[in-house]
Amino acid sequence: MMREDATPGDILIIGSGIGGLTAGILLSKLGFPVTIVERATQPGGLMRSYRRCDIDCPTGVHYLGALDQGQPLRRLWDCLGVTPLIPLERMGADGIIDRYIFDDFVFDLPEGIDAFEDNLCRAFPEEYDQIAAITGDLREMSRVLSGLDMVLSPTIANVSPQSMDPMGRRLLKMGCSSRLIAVLSVPAVLIGVPLNDCPIFYYYMTLASYLMSSWRLAEGSNTMAEAFLSRFSSLGGTVIAGDGAKAIEIDAGRAKGVILQSGRILSATTVIAAIHPKTILALLPPEAVRSSYAERVTTLLDTEGLLGVNVAVDAEEHPALPYNIYRLHPEENGNLYRGIFNQIRRTGQTGTNLLSMITASGIEEWQPWEKTTSGRRGTDYESRKAEKAYQVMEAAARLFGPLGDAKVLDCYTPLTVRDWVHSPDGSPYGILRSASQLMRAVSLNRLPVKGLFLAGQNRLSPGIMGTVLGSFQAVRQVVGQERFTQDVAGGFQ
Ligand SMILES: Cc1cc2nc3c(=O)[nH]c(=O)nc-3n(C[C@H](O)[C@H](O)[C@H](O)COP(=O)(O)OP(=O)(O)OC[C@H]3O[C@@H](n4cnc5c(N)ncnc54)[C@H](O)[C@@H]3O)c2cc1C
Repeated sequence: MMREDATPGDILIIGSGIGGLTAGILLSKLGFPVTIVERATQPGGLMRSYRRCDIDCPTGVHYLGALDQGQPLRRLWDCLGVTPLIPLERMGADGIIDRYIFDDFVFDLPEGIDAFEDNLCRAFPEEYDQIAAITGDLREMSRVLSGLDMVLSPTIANVSPQSMDPMGRRLLKMGCSSRLIAVLSVPAVLIGVPLNDCPIFYYYMTLASYLMSSWRLAEGSNTMAEAFLSRFSSLGGTVIAGDGAKAIEIDAGRAKGVILQSGRILSATTVIAAIHPKTILALLPPEAVRSSYAERVTTLLDTEGLLGVNVAVDAEEHPALPYNIYRLHPEENGNLYRGIFNQIRRTGQTGTNLLSMITASGIEEWQPWEKTTSGRRGTDYESRKAEKAYQVMEAAARLFGPLGDAKVLDCYTPLTVRDWVHSPDGSPYGILRSASQLMRAVSLNRLPVKGLFLAGQNRLSPGIMGTVLGSFQAVRQVVGQERFTQDVAGGFQ
């Protein structure tokens, strides 16, 4: 085994998704030597796409909010220096960002809170008071997000205990109709939490960011991963890919480095784990962690898995759409609406567009193949996937017309996501940030070992914006409020 000694202030980050790279870029900008270790052979985590038949298929980035000049995610990306490297396409050209299609009605989500309020009032004229209260809260959340309060302040200003109550309960208390609740339930899906258990704060944060402005990647799906990686290396950062962390080394209660799968030992004065807390726990020696902490982590519920299907379609028959379509069906309890997300975009190949479809699919469905690895799961698994892909495509054909000529490029399951980014049970958005377990989830932000910090989607909230905000928070914790205010926040445009 080879030990590589630390120089003072050496920082080691575990995980090269957007969470790890955001922390890595910021700390490199502050002058720290940073190394990111990644277990997959290709860095980038869920930002990375994959190619099938020469077509780029997205994994964890279908659309993003708040990226217009001066908007919160844009200001954070500007601070990181990645904005000019990522070609973006604004959604909503037809006045629609998302179209929600229910069995008996359609609702269009437009850009802007005013337009959203107008559309809601037109669809639900009897519920003007409820709509005014909801859009009033949304405007308040937009102000909080735009002020970047969540990264600037150690405690989140303007967050009342009531804003951690479930949004579903609030809507019922306000006397909203089941149809209005159906429309309002969709944004909760974007962070993987059912509306009935989705904290009001996270609900408004997610919806407000997409209403500010919505975007998708303009050229291929890999540009974001490449931009974050090239920015990090241009600042002198190092990525070690294909050699994940096997253990976090501790000395006198303090993290002092990691042992990699290969046996290589890397020392550091600070370790940032931009991975799932259950994975962090498995990397720590049991004696370093109190049993109460271990129990809290292991008993936390994660977000439900997803099944995704990517299909190449004829561009003339199925033109690219500047908005997404959600096909939604009521669940038995009447309040939650699951469904299928659909997006048709250009591929860069003349005459061919890409139709991406995503729907919920719990790990239980895939339990028989739990012990297998990607590419070696056998024919039963392939048949099951083909069956599921067919169902999802049938539903899409009812929206877009026959898909007879379509070519299935790929279908992924929670097992694929599990093996791709090492996420427990293939959970797409990490820990379920539900009202029921929120305090337990938040308490994980202080890891049980000195010099070890949590970044990434499990820190504040999932989604690209939540993950970036969470990693800025992690850097504030690492360098201290004073240095952060002066050297990071001072640079916000
Ligand atoms: C199908 C799907 C669609 C999505 N669509 C959207 C969307 O349209 N918009 C949006 O905003 N969000 C979307 N998300 C969510 C978003 O992608 C995530 O919230 C975000 O990318 C998480 O970033 P992260 O860095 O925390 O985690 P990840 O990207 O998962 O990165 C973690 C990295 O850590 C690595 N790792 C794990 N264990 C180790 C170890 N022991 N040693 C070294 N490395 C390790 C993993 O290999 C991985 O590369 C989607 C997610 C999924 C799954």
